[in-house]
Amino acid sequence: METIERPGFSIQRIGARLLASAQDPNWTVPNVAFRLHLRHCGEDISRIYTVRDSDGAGRFCFDVVVHEGASPMMQWVQGVKVGDSFDLTGPRPHMGLPEAKGRKLALFLDETAIPALYSLLRRWPGDVSGAGWWSSIERLNNLASRRRLTFSELVSVSSEAEACIAILLYKC
Ligand SMILES: Cc1cc2nc3c(=O)[nH]c(=O)nc-3n(C[C@H](O)[C@H](O)[C@H](O)COP(=O)(O)OP(=O)(O)OC[C@H]3O[C@@H](n4cnc5c(N)ncnc54)[C@H](O)[C@@H]3O)c2cc1C
Repeated sequence: METIERPGFSIQRIGARLLASAQDPNWTVPNVAFRLHLRHCGEDISRIYTVRDSDGAGRFCFDVVVHEGASPMMQWVQGVKVGDSFDLTGPRPHMGLPEAKGRKLALFLDETAIPALYSLLRRWPGDVSGAGWWSSIERLNNLASRRRLTFSELVSVSSEAEACIAILLYKC
């Protein structure tokens, strides 16, 4: 691990450098995930995280959503330091933008899907535009407006609504 940042209250952003398999082209595919292996209470377990960004040469970063409770990942993020290492399995591409076939599409995301949305926005197809409603600490507006997506901020009506995004997409 090369960098550990806290860009927002509920996000811990980790920058890492691969020691092997850096050439795998899937690292730069939008919305690719990997399985992070960790030790917890003497057991080997794993959790899935999304590559937020990758330089295609072995450096990548991912966001851990910090939630309540002392879960295995919450304990892991509290203890990690720059210079530590971890094993992973992957990368494994996940959902891209669904084929619209002339219809409007609605995407609903919680905060753990923001890295996936971020990576999709960076490779946004030119013929897809849309409108989004969101309530989140992450400011995606600059990136979104360059992709013909306009975002409006929601006023949260409950704690469950705090980290949700809805996007309506349409093909031009
Ligand atoms: C394809 C894929 C990609 C993912 N990408 C990301 C990512 O980039 N960033 C990310 O943060 N997560 C991501 N997730 C979700 C992440 O894998 C889970 O949230 C995971 O369960 C967290 O592990 P944990 O040890 O913290 O909690 P667990 O041990 O799995 O669960 C313990 C308790 O914590 C609660 N909990 C778990 N996650 C959350 C949460 N986010 N908010 C509130 N309560 C929670 C559970 O409901 C349970 O009660 C992804 C999941 C998938 C399937």
